[in-house]
Order: sequence, then structure tokens, then C-alpha cells
Amino acid sequence: MKQKPKFETIAIKSTENKYSDSVPVSVPIYLSSTYKRCNDGSYMNDFVYSRTNNPNRSIVEESIAILENGKHAYAFSSGMAAISAVFQSLKAGDHILLPDDIYFAVRKLMDEVFKRWNLSCDYVDMTDCELIKKTIKPNTSLIWLESPSNPQLKLSDIEAIAEIAHQNKAICAVDNTWLTPVFQNPLNLGADIVVHSTTKYFGGHSDVIGGCVVVNDELLAEKIKNIQILSGAVPAPFDCWLIGRGIQTLYLRVKKQSKNALKLAKYLENHPKIEKVLYPGLKSHPQHLLAKKQQKKGFGAMLSVLIKGTEEETIKISTKLAYFTTATSLGGVESLVEHRKSVEGINSETPNNLLRISVGIEHIDDLIADWENALSMNNE
Ligand SMILES: *Cc1c(COP(=O)(O)O)cnc(C)c1O
Repeated sequence: MKQKPKFETIAIKSTENKYSDSVPVSVPIYLSSTYKRCNDGSYMNDFVYSRTNNPNRSIVEESIAILENGKHAYAFSSGMAAISAVFQSLKAGDHILLPDDIYFAVRKLMDEVFKRWNLSCDYVDMTDCELIKKTIKPNTSLIWLESPSNPQLKLSDIEAIAEIAHQNKAICAVDNTWLTPVFQNPLNLGADIVVHSTTKYFGGHSDVIGGCVVVNDELLAEKIKNIQILSGAVPAPFDCWLIGRGIQTLYLRVKKQSKNALKLAKYLENHPKIEKVLYPGLKSHPQHLLAKKQQKKGFGAMLSVLIKGTEEETIKISTKLAYFTTATSLGGVESLVEHRKSVEGINSETPNNLLRISVGIEHIDDLIADWENALSMNNE
């Protein structure tokens, strides 16, 4: 070109990517929304436009698929977007079985959004296989499980319930957010879909919102992928990068968190101010044997405690803790505690005296001392 480019043109051209041939060890963040074509109009690889596909997203999707032992994973901008995609893959008129103590936002999503789209549902106690069989209808196309459930830590027999679903030509989806593939692989137990809020343990540092859906079946994969790309609730490259970074330490974090949780649960179970500890790793949990069978490598880092006391006393104890931040959410490196009923609102069936605990990676001696202190201060 004869003409010397002007300032504005130089500003664009001089900042384009000149180093795409180098191979950084840490994954760069690919903020580009679009990818250059070759001279013949073709593309060098799968990357065309970032809503459809993006290197940071592909890395996370491939990683989660392998970890969950699935063929395909699709990342979403939140756990709720991932869950919505599964509901959107159904057809109008379908019936769904949902756990009676399902994550409260999913209940709202169903009741306030999807019922208008002519999906119907029944909320069932998913610890009871006979009840599931009785409630299933000819048009039931999906059984949804959360095991353990939130916040009561009830377990569902995934293998048995997936079998019931299949006998009815329905599919079984498991929200595996609370355990991660380190402790539970629902696809290995016969489930057809696994969903995650990657906001929690995958991210692991309470600094990103994300979700994903993992499937084996090619038809189902095609449907979910279409919804992901066309509805467009896709995660940003930086969010994917954070989740990818989180995955690198997922195993170390959750192993330590689960170990801490078991020790804390055992301590709290013997404390006179505690009415009950809900944790599948305790022998006192009604489904401890199922937990040992289905969560082969550990019991997870979530537990709930029932305080001997009123709602006010329960909330007060949570504010006396120094190392457990009073906040919603879970799965980060820092311990959190939450009076669950206040978050869930007036229709919540959660007991007034329940505190939900997400155990972090701090030293267990400090965590136990913190509870000892908070529970003794309540007398003052
Ligand atoms: C947090 C959570 C969700 C929702 O995920 P978001 O990332 O907040 O949209 C769904 N299911 C479970 C079990 C969760 O803990």
C-alpha cells in the first residue's frame, strides 16, 4: 500500500495478535469475539465466533466431560442457565419429577417460568423409590435428582432411580454441584445428564458464576448444544479461564474440605448445644450406607446443623463465628455459614434452627475452636 496509514488505522493494526504461533504454558484469555478466515474462506479450526465456540470455553468443556466420564459437556453462564437448558430440551406437555427439597431457585424456575411453557411437575421425596414409581406418569420424561440435597443432605439412590426412569422411557438428570466428580460420577451410576453450578467447587474461589451440562447421548448432546449456542447464555472467556484454573486444584481442595467437614461434623454431633448434624459421612445419617456405596471417594464438604434454640439464637451463633463468613453460596476455599431459611423465604420448608455450612480449606483445629467459642458465647 502506498499510502501511509493514519493514526486511527495504526491504532487498530499495530495491536493485532502477532504472537499466535507461540505456545504459552498458562492458557491465555481469548477475549476475541471472532476468528480470522483463511484466504480460501475456510477456518483454521473450530473457532469462528465466540458465542458458538471459544478456546477458553472448549478447554473447560473438554475437561469437565472427561472428569465426569461423559462424552460432551456444555458450559453456561450460570448453574441456572445450565439447568434451564435441560428443561428447554424437553417438549411442551412433558412431566418432570423434582425433589421436594430441591435447590430453591430451581423450584421457582419451574413454578414461575416453565409451567407457563406447559411443563408440569411433581415434587417428590427422592429418598423413597416406591413413591417415585407411584408418582411417575406416562408423560414423565425427566427425573431430576440432587444428591445430597440442599440444605437437608438427603441422598437419592441414583442407580435405582435412573433404572426407574429408563423403565418409563424417561431420563435421569443429577445436579452434582455439591459433590463434584471427585466424589460422585452420576453417569457411571446410570444417569443420563449431569449438571453443575461451576460457581461452587469447580471455580472454588467465590469469584465466578458458571454452569455446565454433561451428557453421553448424541441426540441429547445436539439439543443442549443448540440451546447453548442459540439461547446464548454462554460464559465469558475470562469466566472460563477462572473455572479452568479452579479445576487444576479441585481435587486437592475438595479432599481437604471433605476431611475437614467430617471432623467438624463429628465434633458438632457431640456438642450439647447441637440438636442434630446432617452429614452423610456420619454413622447417624439415615443413608450413611448409601453414601458409602455411591460416593466412593468421600462425603463432601457441605453439612447442616440444627441448633438447640430459637431462630434468633441460631442466627446469633452464626454471627459469632470468626472463620465462617455469613454468606450464601458454597464451595470456595473459605468456610461459609448460612441461616438457610432467611434466604429461601416464607415458603421454605427448612427448619428455623438450621445452619448450612460450607467447609473451607482452613486448619481444622481453628474451625473447631471457632464453633466451640461461638456456641459458648450464646449463653452470655
Ligand atoms: C448454586 C446452585 C445452583 C445454581 O447455580 P448458579 O451458578 O448460582 O446459577 C444450582 N444447584 C445447586 C445444587 C447449587 O448449589
